[in-house]
Amino acid sequence: MAIRAARTAFDESEWVALRPSQRSELLHKIVSALEARQQELADAEMYNGGCTWRKANLMDIPVGLINFRHFAELADSEPIESVPQITFPAMSYNHVRREPIGVCGQIIPWNFPFLMAIWKIAPALAAGCTVVLKPASNTPLSALKMVEIIHETGLLPPGVLNLVTGPGEVVGPELCTSPLVDKIAFTGSTEVGRGIMQQAASTIKKVTLELGGKSPSILLDDADLDLAIDGSLWATFMHNGQACESGTRLLVPSSIYDEVVERLVARASRLKVGIASSGETDIGPLISASQLRSVEEYIQIGLAEGAKPALLGSRPTDPELQNGFFITPTIFTDVDNSMRIAQEEVFGPVLVVIKYDGIDEAVRIANDTIYGLAAGVWGRDIERCMSVAQQIRAGTIWINDWHVLNAEAPFGGYKQSGIGRELGEWGFKEYQEIKHIHVPLNNNRQTKFWFDIVVPQE
Ligand code: NAP
Ligand code: MG
Repeated sequence: MAIRAARTAFDESEWVALRPSQRSELLHKIVSALEARQQELADAEMYNGGCTWRKANLMDIPVGLINFRHFAELADSEPIESVPQITFPAMSYNHVRREPIGVCGQIIPWNFPFLMAIWKIAPALAAGCTVVLKPASNTPLSALKMVEIIHETGLLPPGVLNLVTGPGEVVGPELCTSPLVDKIAFTGSTEVGRGIMQQAASTIKKVTLELGGKSPSILLDDADLDLAIDGSLWATFMHNGQACESGTRLLVPSSIYDEVVERLVARASRLKVGIASSGETDIGPLISASQLRSVEEYIQIGLAEGAKPALLGSRPTDPELQNGFFITPTIFTDVDNSMRIAQEEVFGPVLVVIKYDGIDEAVRIANDTIYGLAAGVWGRDIERCMSVAQQIRAGTIWINDWHVLNAEAPFGGYKQSGIGRELGEWGFKEYQEIKHIHVPLNNNRQTKFWFDIVVPQE
């Protein structure tokens, strides 16, 4: 029903025909309606996904709304692009029109439920598409609340924005194989992403995928350690490591390895694990019991592979935390990049620290992964950082920073981290088809070379 509603809205409503400025104005009003109810959205995010009060209120909701606002601005762009002057076979006027791709099926994960909903809905609506969004079964609440607020504004024609909850195994194949859907956008595990691409192949749907990562964080020997140590903790432990672009492999020169590990452990052991709603909490619960089991399994795998636990995570003893999915941070040293804990996405508070000698070796280790979502470089010599950044095969590189994803800049993966880009003009254009229109300036018989190729017999 949702797919049919989205199809009808795309084919028959006034939505697609709106001028860019009208669509932009309408989206700005929608963002204002969401801004007015930020607190409800932040509460839904915190109680449903277990993200901390600070993360929901200082990051997810405000940043999400800034991103939505940016797409409202992008919506107001002329969908016409020029083509270089064409003179063969005769002078013609040519231009490209960017048009909405159509009905978009969008599937999002549980780690950033609100932000991911916005990264999907906002560019699609800005481009004039219609949407069927499927949030993760663990975290439907902030997306439901957002769609409810948008519907209450009455600004969108019926059928333009739809949301369907339910298991990915059921809703996913419906969206991916329906001939009424033009595009699938997915964020989640690389494994499910592979299946989505295969299913979408049956109708040659456009596909954008934002998948896993095992992002290298390269600490150079001239790094400001006060910044790089806390930066490495932020890169890894933000939202408990449940972020696709977390800096989960820290590469450290052997000359300062012991000092860095000692300082990392000292700082990481001071991170406060606690209930999400407390303003004191640095690290809240993991998303689910099964994610907690999976993280514990990875810790056992790391120990069995011979990595040394400089800090060994465990379930906290605080009675208040007994019934939640809590675990304290783990830092593994003596890690070889071929180990499973260095190659596979743990999606939990587990950092591996790998030793290197010389920048060439650091770059080789950094690129030795199936993933290529993000990477980071910590150093004082920006020229040297830039040179390393250019050698890393990943879609986002931070220099002396992490987790900064701006509405204006593209985000997405090299290699098995995905296809396509989100955010900015790049993300916007993923929701547009490209149409070339050719208009000859002359219509004399002499200017039409085809008259001589297929010639009806007299
Ligand atoms: P997942 O299975 O990839 O789930 C992501 C989304 O895809 C959810 O909405 C899910 O719905 C849906 N889905 C599941 N099976 C599907 C299918 N066969 N067809 C279409 N959609 C489907 O991720 P997960 O199982 O929650 O987490 C497993 C691991 O994936 C994590 O440990 C982590 O390594 C990785 N992960 C990565 C990201 C990322 O941002 N790159 C995000 C989340 C997880 P349901 O919720 O109904 O299953
Ligand atoms: Mg799954």
